[in-house]
Amino acid sequence: MSGIVRKDLYKRARILRQIRTQGLGSVFEEFETLDQAKARRKANIVALRESRNEDAQVLATRLSRCGRGGRCESGACPVCNRRYRKNVIYQTIHALLGLDNLLLVTWQCSSDDIPNDKLPEFDGLDLLRIKNRNFQKFKRLNVEYPIIGSFEMAYLPEKDSWRPHFHAVTSCGNRDVLEHFRVYLQKQKHPRNTAPLHIIPITKTPVAAIGYLFKSEWKQKPSRVLGLRYTTQRLVGERLVNALLALDRLGMRKKLFLHKCKSYRRGRHLIFVA
Ligand SMILES: [Zn+2]
Repeated sequence: MSGIVRKDLYKRARILRQIRTQGLGSVFEEFETLDQAKARRKANIVALRESRNEDAQVLATRLSRCGRGGRCESGACPVCNRRYRKNVIYQTIHALLGLDNLLLVTWQCSSDDIPNDKLPEFDGLDLLRIKNRNFQKFKRLNVEYPIIGSFEMAYLPEKDSWRPHFHAVTSCGNRDVLEHFRVYLQKQKHPRNTAPLHIIPITKTPVAAIGYLFKSEWKQKPSRVLGLRYTTQRLVGERLVNALLALDRLGMRKKLFLHKCKSYRRGRHLIFVA
């Protein structure tokens, strides 16, 4: 084993030990605090209560009862998601071969766009279909290293639809195989999307980049008239309600994207094995 690889493994072990002994916040300063998660849950409950949708009322009640005595485990609950995120961030670091040559990969599935009025029907089976197609492609491309990430959707105001996409991390230093994946994405039914894949080398803060993967908060893309230097916006009103209902239907674990890595449950924790 080369000196560089050994140094990298040592670094990974040190970070994992620091998380175990001093908490995730000690290596990931921006990780949201419990109070921030609680405030976000409160805001979600208010939005759900304001809706006329009956399912929204049921979900609001579930979220408001979530507490130390019994967690709601809903994909729409920021407090439960924060706990889940701590678990999967740790497991991702553990499953990666090292932290020095990481790539943050984001890809969009524009041929799977979901019209806004169809979002209430989108469920775990639809998500599985999208995931399987991507798994098959990585398999055909003989991608032999772990790709670990999560599913998300973004609202596109100009199309009044939702864009499925994935954020993932991989320890592969070789981008060529990902370039083949880009060609595949560009050939999809709706080739209007000319930039379906983004690859960013992670140089400084691997834990924060990994933490970014598992944020369970769907956002809205600003309209294109604002120009290209846009930032995403938080969802509000009925759009937020529909996103929360979808997040609740999908749960947390189903959103994981694990290529060359398996997950299993031990107690209330997930364990990743690459
Ligand atoms: Zn909860």
